[in-house]
Amino acid sequence: MAWHLHVGPSGSGRTTRMVALARAACDAGQRVWWVGLPAQRAHVLRRVTAGGYTALGLEVMSGQQAYYRLLTAANRLQPMLVGSARLVRVAEALKEVTGAFPTPGEAHLFARAIAEAKRFGVGADGYAARATDPEQKRFAAVYRAYEARKGAWDYDDVRTEAVELARRGELRCEADLVIVDGLREIGPLELRLYRALAEQAEVHLSLTAAPPGETPTSRLTQAHPVTLERYLAPNPVSEARWVMRSLKRDLVTGGFHPLDLAVIAPEGRARALAALAEEYGVPLMDESPLALVDRPLGQRLVDLLELLEHPTPSRLLAVAELRPLAAAALEDGVAGVEAVTRLADALGLGRAWRRWLARLEVSGEPVAWARALVVEVLGGEGALPHDFAEGALAKAQEAARLGADGPGFRAWWAALLRDTRSARREPAGVALTTAQQASGRRFRKAYLLGAVDGAYAAHEEEDYFLPEEQRLPLAEAFARLGLPHRFQGRAQQVAAELLTRADHLVVTAPQAGQGGPLVADEALLGAAPAPLPPVPAGSRLELEGPAYRAPLGRVAFGRPTVERLRRYRRCPFRVWGESALGVRAEWEDDPPAWRRLLTDLTAERNGRLTPARLEALAAAHPEAAGWLEAHAPRLTCLTYNVEMFGGPGRAAALLHAAERVPLGADGQRAVLYRFVAPGSVVSVGDARAYLSDRWTEYYAAYGLLHQARHAVERVDVVVWPVLGEPVSAYGQGVARGFRLASQRRDWVNEELPRYLAGEVEARPGFHCRDCEVLDLCREGTP
Ligand code: SF4
Repeated sequence: MAWHLHVGPSGSGRTTRMVALARAACDAGQRVWWVGLPAQRAHVLRRVTAGGYTALGLEVMSGQQAYYRLLTAANRLQPMLVGSARLVRVAEALKEVTGAFPTPGEAHLFARAIAEAKRFGVGADGYAARATDPEQKRFAAVYRAYEARKGAWDYDDVRTEAVELARRGELRCEADLVIVDGLREIGPLELRLYRALAEQAEVHLSLTAAPPGETPTSRLTQAHPVTLERYLAPNPVSEARWVMRSLKRDLVTGGFHPLDLAVIAPEGRARALAALAEEYGVPLMDESPLALVDRPLGQRLVDLLELLEHPTPSRLLAVAELRPLAAAALEDGVAGVEAVTRLADALGLGRAWRRWLARLEVSGEPVAWARALVVEVLGGEGALPHDFAEGALAKAQEAARLGADGPGFRAWWAALLRDTRSARREPAGVALTTAQQASGRRFRKAYLLGAVDGAYAAHEEEDYFLPEEQRLPLAEAFARLGLPHRFQGRAQQVAAELLTRADHLVVTAPQAGQGGPLVADEALLGAAPAPLPPVPAGSRLELEGPAYRAPLGRVAFGRPTVERLRRYRRCPFRVWGESALGVRAEWEDDPPAWRRLLTDLTAERNGRLTPARLEALAAAHPEAAGWLEAHAPRLTCLTYNVEMFGGPGRAAALLHAAERVPLGADGQRAVLYRFVAPGSVVSVGDARAYLSDRWTEYYAAYGLLHQARHAVERVDVVVWPVLGEPVSAYGQGVARGFRLASQRRDWVNEELPRYLAGEVEARPGFHCRDCEVLDLCREGTP
């Protein structure tokens, strides 16, 4: 087996060489581990499999995953501290050592320092031996307490244990070839591990510079040519709009596939860029990892937790009842408890404001309080996604572990909701990424935005605990393990690496932002960047005249039913598009039990439920057997799957079921039935609300009441949840003059001629938000 160290600058073809090695090993039937950063996985797989190559035997993994695999093979895995559990353990250690309750920021500071010490193989005892000042001694004590009470492995322990296995000669590597590529640098522990792996497998490590004490086995010097464009924009908005226009041009006329392109932006700009991309129709794939706080519900929850101490207009928006107060606070430029309280009193919202102040104060057992807040306040305005509620309450439990009191619990819960980011699952598109995530990847064309001073810095800062003079030169840190100097002069390396992220790189920077003038980063933008060149309009808002509209012909919409006309009135294009694309409701692929029962119940036009059919239905749907039996007297009186008023050129009302009930001497009362999901309707209010979104039943009521041949004097509509009790929307029924019925008749009469004539047009509105044919229509607003 052998050790290979390939060294060369960014863009010198190291990854190309690694791809060739991986393919050759796969061709030879070997197992290959490709170790890189998590963000590089899709990129590496795309490169290795380019041209349809089947990479049998290749696994792309992160360093962490490689350590797990080695430890699993040696049967040495232990439970792990995942997510924010590590931060919580550090906070517990801090509390134990100092006796005071730490703030999240303080715990973060210690957690980062512990992680760095472990990365360079400095244990708690080793640190304590070198600690000289009280702060270093305090850190060493916290480090020791953390190690003693953590009760599971953290991520750094996994690496340390793998290295320990290597030291004892107990490593068992499953791969024949290990490729380590795409890393900016490597630590002393990783180097020892890969060195040890080289005794069992072929190991190729590729870096821009050899680690201290290592001699490269091959050097690559020829830099890949890069076409570089550098521009200055007046401000960040014009810069972002120009990039969106350029991306659209690249995609539409430039011959680029979305995965060939990337937007590299400083952290914090992703959200604005993603929002702008929607306006331009650019398919951006936001790669920024997601924390709970990045979801709208998470942000609302954090706003609620921070409202008590720091009320601002945006935080006030988290409470629906206080939205008028938020608007007034924004208009008056007011923030802070005292000012907001005075404003609330002036608006007559003082009582509501004080009630919320009390509601947001932690009372009783913190986790129970947190659960009530999530379920009652956040869940009160709509369904709460299960994964969100579960994730948010798990964080509340971690915060409660610390035993904090009211404000402390709220601060920690909010901090943990911000912590622990995980990769998001986005549809493939143009990568919207950060410099860190773009590391080790190369695109055909990339836009590097916001290249102002400090935006793409190496972030080399003095450590709070261990100053530079107490740290070791890098070579020494590799030789005998220890914390190395923080200042390694990496700025040039970072800039050089960024300038080779694409075959064609466009670097831009704004001249000024909201805070005033900005200084361009000369290492990225050069000495004389040009102003942004003109690019044709990419969004409708940028057009001077009207936008292009495809000519719409006439189409055959098919048979008019009342509900189809209702949807036609909302948007004719959507009705046509959904039928042209065969759009089906999600549940249709796997209908729930109640829908299957309803399909069987209404299988026959004008069908009746005989005792034999009732029995067969109960056998086929055992979960509904009791319900069928209990309601058999009524269910057997109904006529199912009833069509009314159809015929050539007329709208058909399709009813689930109907019955007629004598009303005295001559008249009759008609009852129209609509079956709905179990539990979805329980009151008269629910039934009426449900019917307000439909036309069929009220339209049928109009016809029955006004056509003399039906001899119907009253009509009732019953909404009946399967497995539940029927709910009559109007008791003894409605008579002629019922406004909602004549309204439905008018709407049908208005839409029917245009529907029959096949007139089609897009009618954008709020309903576009859930439209399945938005991409086809291009008129709607997402
Ligand atoms: S996106 Fe809006 S306007 Fe376009 S078809 Fe859908 S609903 Fe109609």
